[in-house]
Amino acid sequence: MEIKDVLIIGAGPIGLACGLEAKKAGLSYSIIEKGCLVNSLYNYPVNMTFFSTSDRLEIGEVPFISNNPKPTRAEALEYYRRVCASNNLDVRLYEEVESIKKEEAIFHVKTVKETYHATSVILALGFYDLPYLLHVPGEELPKVKHYYDEPHPYYAQKVLIVGAANSAVDAALETWRKGAEVTMVVREASLRDTVKYWVKPDIENRISEGSIQAYFNSTIKEITPKAVYITTPEGERIIENDFVLAMTGYQPPFGFLKAAGIQIQDDVANTPLYDEVTMETNIAGMYLAGVVCGGLRTGKWFIENSRVHAEMIIQHLTKK
Ligand code: FAD
Repeated sequence: MEIKDVLIIGAGPIGLACGLEAKKAGLSYSIIEKGCLVNSLYNYPVNMTFFSTSDRLEIGEVPFISNNPKPTRAEALEYYRRVCASNNLDVRLYEEVESIKKEEAIFHVKTVKETYHATSVILALGFYDLPYLLHVPGEELPKVKHYYDEPHPYYAQKVLIVGAANSAVDAALETWRKGAEVTMVVREASLRDTVKYWVKPDIENRISEGSIQAYFNSTIKEITPKAVYITTPEGERIIENDFVLAMTGYQPPFGFLKAAGIQIQDDVANTPLYDEVTMETNIAGMYLAGVVCGGLRTGKWFIENSRVHAEMIIQHLTKK
């Protein structure tokens, strides 16, 4: 039975950063990923631009050159692919991890293809797989989407967008510019302050001139094949509709974390328990890295500020 020093679960930017550090430290490792390389980024909207400048998305001190200060999704895919290939990282793709069991200081990591063994495990699982549901009748209709990819399918369609953050705003502007009739439904009284500063005036002007209709302090009551019923401060409205884009955010895989034995704290964010200096969880030898560390506070960690987790973990591992 081959026993590796560390198994890294998730080949997002932070899982790759962990792989680079492990390799640099001379540890035996594999990175196991359920989808393609940087699977979450691959599933972001096709025309998406990062809010970070490219230097802040770099890992393993490999320079990230982009044409503009804010790189696009396509550039990021190119970058992480090149980092992986040029460092010859051991990445096992399309291999979902189903369970992790620890027996006598050895972790047994079972994937859809085989079982791996290691003395430590890093969970860099991200938070992009479980969308927050609206929990309203009609949400199961095929016209309701929780991921937005590109605007073309929405040409000449009545599109209702739920949400107040960057994803909702980007989808609203992009689909409107490609000929959709766009209505936004926002639970809060205004759009989020975190909306990209160079995009905010654009969406605010489109709303105030009436090009995009927005209902604030409003919620979805029901979705039918031809309409959406919303509750607004002025009463109920029935809006004719072809597609609903529910850009309501995503949450970490709490079920997976719990099944692996990680304690989820009883705070507002349901933060998984880990040591902020070493990143080790309540299970010795099991570490958390990247955005998954924030629990429900999915905006707390991002690539920029969590890539350092890789160094922290590998330093702790090598000291051990
Ligand atoms: P992820 O990239 O989500 O990687 C986790 C990986 O784990 C995924 O590939 C997933 O498939 C895999 N995985 C999950 N479960 C399993 C399993 N059971 N078995 C095997 N593999 C599994 N951050 C910034 O710093 N700057 C930005 O400008 C920025 N813009 C963003 C724009 C959007 C639209 C979104 C949604 C996020 C943005 N972020 C940004 C956040 C950033 O993309 C994420 O923080 C980043 O993807 C986090 O990297 P990660 O490696 O922690 O997680």
